[in-house]
Amino acid sequence: MTVALTDSVSTLPGVGPKRVDALAALGITDIASLLTYYPFRYNDMRVKNLNEIQDQEQVTLKGVVAAPPTIARFGRKKTRLNFRLLIDHDVVPVTFFNQPWLQKQITVEEPIMVYGRFDANRKQLNGMKILASGNADPMASVYPSNSGIRQKTIQQLVQAAWDQYHDEITDLIPAPIATHYRLLDRQQMIHDMHFPETLAAAQAARRSAKFEEFFLFQMQLQQLKHQDKTQSGVPIAYDNEQVTALTQSLPYELTGAQKRVVNEICADMKRPFHMNRLLQGDVGSGKTVVAAIVMYAAITAGFQAALMAPTEILAEQHANNLQALFEGFPVNIVILTGSTKPAVRKEILPRIESGELNLIIGTHALIQDTVQYHKLGLVVIDEQHRFGVGQRQALREKGDNPDVLAMTATPIPRTLAITSYGEMDISVIDELPAGRKPVSTYWIKSTQIDSAIQFVTGQLQAGHQAYVVTPLIEESEAVDMKNAEAIYERFSQYFAPKYQVGLLHGRMKNEEKESVMAAFKNQEFQVLVATTVIEVGVDVKNATVMFIYDADHFGLSQLHQLRGRVGRSDQQSYCILIADPKNKNGVQRMQVMTQTNDGFVLSQKDLELRGAGDVLGKKQSGVPDFKVGDPVADLTMLSVAQQEAKQLSDQKDWAQQPENNALADYMKQKERTTYLFD
Ligand code: ADP
Ligand code: MG
Repeated sequence: MTVALTDSVSTLPGVGPKRVDALAALGITDIASLLTYYPFRYNDMRVKNLNEIQDQEQVTLKGVVAAPPTIARFGRKKTRLNFRLLIDHDVVPVTFFNQPWLQKQITVEEPIMVYGRFDANRKQLNGMKILASGNADPMASVYPSNSGIRQKTIQQLVQAAWDQYHDEITDLIPAPIATHYRLLDRQQMIHDMHFPETLAAAQAARRSAKFEEFFLFQMQLQQLKHQDKTQSGVPIAYDNEQVTALTQSLPYELTGAQKRVVNEICADMKRPFHMNRLLQGDVGSGKTVVAAIVMYAAITAGFQAALMAPTEILAEQHANNLQALFEGFPVNIVILTGSTKPAVRKEILPRIESGELNLIIGTHALIQDTVQYHKLGLVVIDEQHRFGVGQRQALREKGDNPDVLAMTATPIPRTLAITSYGEMDISVIDELPAGRKPVSTYWIKSTQIDSAIQFVTGQLQAGHQAYVVTPLIEESEAVDMKNAEAIYERFSQYFAPKYQVGLLHGRMKNEEKESVMAAFKNQEFQVLVATTVIEVGVDVKNATVMFIYDADHFGLSQLHQLRGRVGRSDQQSYCILIADPKNKNGVQRMQVMTQTNDGFVLSQKDLELRGAGDVLGKKQSGVPDFKVGDPVADLTMLSVAQQEAKQLSDQKDWAQQPENNALADYMKQKERTTYLFD
């Protein structure tokens, strides 16, 4: 039987339908995606000598159990298990708290390996776990996991995939480039990412993995760009009068910046070339109405338009807003998401195919194979950094190479924009609608929370609503949820019976999330406790407070996004950052937040502070989500990869060269799939 990296993970032993789903939720579908599902850190489990251990370091000690373990009980459920470990001539006391069952594994005069935190002053070990002797992994990989699948399982699956498939791994980066940048060959790289012998080996592998990721990403961009130049698009001959009628029906006057970008986009759509344009505008700058106007322009020219949003909440919100905005205009709106019922889908799809429905709003469900369009002229992608290039590509391939307008609320410093969106033209809305009051931002320490909550109460008394964003723990959605629930309980009790509190977290079903958001919008409760799922786009005008726990764990751009959820009316709004930053960089970031409301200034600052080498959260830069590379911290590598990818794809026949076979195959395969970098 032949095996290939494109084999489904279900070919691995022990992977049934349930695991397939859990893995898919992590973006793992085939062997290739499993083998490139990299650990985000390593636990150094190598056995160390006592004299080379730092105080409080986590280490593995190996010795012989010198005396039988004893267990002391205290409190209601607490236990302390003690024993002595003989290492050469030293005796090290070991303590395990609240793991009495370990006693069985500790036998006098037997060798044992214990992992824990070492107290160098007292020369004792605070035990964390007992390692089976003989098979202790020198450097244990730690993977991002979710509730559906355990860390251990991921480790085993990666091992199994490696054992069965490592011979299938071929080099993707052309040899001259790999040599020039001293990259590891792909087999070694993947091996050392998962099973490094030393930290240095892991770092070397990561450097190569980053380069590969950036390079492949840039190759995709280059291909898109190439298509733009070679495929002609359809000219969209819109009706000026009808479009003007729509803008005149709006309850407000467009800002100068909105008018300018509408003109830019319309002019571009009219041309017989393919449009590929990025619309940048700070939160609240009014991108949606710009999208509505240009989509309507396409409709007046007899085309369909599609609007793709990253979440169902957003798709729903767009659908509701646009429904109202297009009242009385010949626009037939439909919403299509993952939770659209099969019966409804069945009824809708033919009406999309016939062209009767001309404005299709949804999530990535819009790019499924079963959705056929009649005459798709314009595709708008909201919060576009949430989508991978693959998905952008797939939507483009729907219909007859429609024009694409991608929108983002994350202002991106120029250098970064060029490397990440090099293939696009850019329009910028650099002006907020008149009458907006800048959000007042305060930074407080966690000891001052009580007075901050009193402040929130004042806002509630004035009839306003508040968001409370709970701490972010990157490693696990489950912990995020627990935190959110605890804070929800606390606020519920505090405000009862006068004000009600709602809860929103990532583990809820989409319908649940939507109904919570709808209820908040309808003022059925006043305080919404949420994890960062509210981050993008949600619009509740009556909310005037954004209360953010552990604010220093978020990146500046993400904080700015969160802050943008308030200040959406003429009421004064407030953003309260709770943070006890542990270093100067954290302090600076909190200060910057209180000093400026300008997204571009913040993103530039983010770049500078991150350039200083501090490692921040990942999900904030507004550029595509990379798995290993960090487009801000590794900007130089990103631009080098861009140059190399450009040089290669500018050679017309690169794909025909035998030495580029593997890369060409890979690119072709990625054209057909949609999950790269998602
Ligand atoms: P974003 O750019 O963050 O997506 P939205 O499109 O959600 O912003 O717009 C934010 C709010 O501003 C919406 O409630 C919208 O109705 C309103 N808005 C948009 N343009 C204007 C304008 N020119 N004047 C006044 N309000 C506007
Ligand atoms: Mg928006």
